[in-house]
Amino acid sequence: MANDYRYTLEKGSKKYRCPNCHKKRFVRYVDTGTGNYLPENYGSCDRAMNCGYNLNPYLDGYAKEIWEQEQGNTTDWKPQPIKRIKKPVKKPKRAFIPVEVLNLTRAGYEQNTFIQNLLSRVAFPFEVQDIEQVISLYHLGTVQNGYRKGANTFPFVDVQGNVRAVQVKQFDKQNHTTGTDFLHSIIEKHHTRNNKALPEWLETYNENETKVSCLFGEHLLTKYPYNPVALVEAPKTAIYGTLYFGFPEQPTNLLWLAVYNLSSLNLNKCKALKGRNVFLFPDLSKGGKAFQLWSNKAAEIQKRLQGTYFYVSDLLEQLAPQQDKEQGKDLADYLIKQDWRLFRKQDIKETPQPEPEPVEPPIREKSEKSEALKKPFIIEENNIDFITVKEPDWSNDIAELENYFTNMKLPTQPLKLNESSTITDCSLFVKNHLSTVKANNGKQIYLPYLNRLQELKKALINQRFSKVP
Ligand SMILES: [Zn+2]
Repeated sequence: MANDYRYTLEKGSKKYRCPNCHKKRFVRYVDTGTGNYLPENYGSCDRAMNCGYNLNPYLDGYAKEIWEQEQGNTTDWKPQPIKRIKKPVKKPKRAFIPVEVLNLTRAGYEQNTFIQNLLSRVAFPFEVQDIEQVISLYHLGTVQNGYRKGANTFPFVDVQGNVRAVQVKQFDKQNHTTGTDFLHSIIEKHHTRNNKALPEWLETYNENETKVSCLFGEHLLTKYPYNPVALVEAPKTAIYGTLYFGFPEQPTNLLWLAVYNLSSLNLNKCKALKGRNVFLFPDLSKGGKAFQLWSNKAAEIQKRLQGTYFYVSDLLEQLAPQQDKEQGKDLADYLIKQDWRLFRKQDIKETPQPEPEPVEPPIREKSEKSEALKKPFIIEENNIDFITVKEPDWSNDIAELENYFTNMKLPTQPLKLNESSTITDCSLFVKNHLSTVKANNGKQIYLPYLNRLQELKKALINQRFSKVP
């Protein structure tokens, strides 16, 4: 007999929560005589390197005790309390999903509901060419079999090109999410069900504390180093943003990235954004909670990422009806009802300035509801009119503003500039804006910077007066 022990570790890949590290990586002991599990402290944790918990029934007297009991004897044996094992806190190296695994998803687009909806079922279907471009930019793919068949894959690839996670989303014909999953979980379930050992990469990958540890679209930051960045919650919204507002080849276009979800916006994830202009578009929420959360986080992160400028849009908060807020609608819900042709900038071929520069925060300050939703991010018409012959001189205005701002104490709290924009860090805002207008005196495209400074000044003066009792 290969194995005549009565108590053995359970065969197969069923895992329980480890009594020591609480990860679901614990294999329990089974009584082969009865088929029952031994008490839940008997077993061995898979995480040999990071936990190492192991309790063998033959070593602590349990086996003997049962045997005595079965002989009708009584003993004074007592199970020992669980001893906590503390492994030295060695931060394990982050493991990634192999590119070959991601590559398997790059097919089956004809059965990919999300993609097919965009090509034919939405109110204003997109050109095949645009869809192909967005697929290749963001490495979108398809789950081609199993219970998530036809679902779209959204990989989170970091700036170094490592695949950190692959989110799987199922959609209905209206492109609303009906199911969410991860590629690694699907692969794991597949193996478990067929009683097969997990591939080695997956064993290691499962050790990662967080799976989604970078931004969706992060890999594009190095490819498009100058574009202003739009940050949304869900990958789907980032895809819509790109399709509606144009591709990042044009350096004044927004480069659309997604955080994954509301609560996972944090400094670590934002490190890749260092030095960029970032426009955040939180989803709608009851009482504007999402907006508030992101505003606070953005202010906090901005302080610790030098040269990065966050600008949180509350455009949706301002314009959406109460019902939409309660449903937590997002930008994607509004965009998809519109004709994308109306959003694309025209005639950008004629740009005589190839030098990419930050652009005007893409929010119109005062606009009719429908107009704003139609073109919320289109830069003021004159801004794209690059062929300006005469350049006005702003020297006096700049001097006046600089004088005003340097002689005053700027608020440290986020400040609402107008209906649709909030400044998270006033002194950084002033610093950035002043240096931009000084470096680009008279250039029409930078007029919004000057205007915003003037607007801020006005707002501060108003605030001061309103405080006087
Ligand atoms: Zn453990």
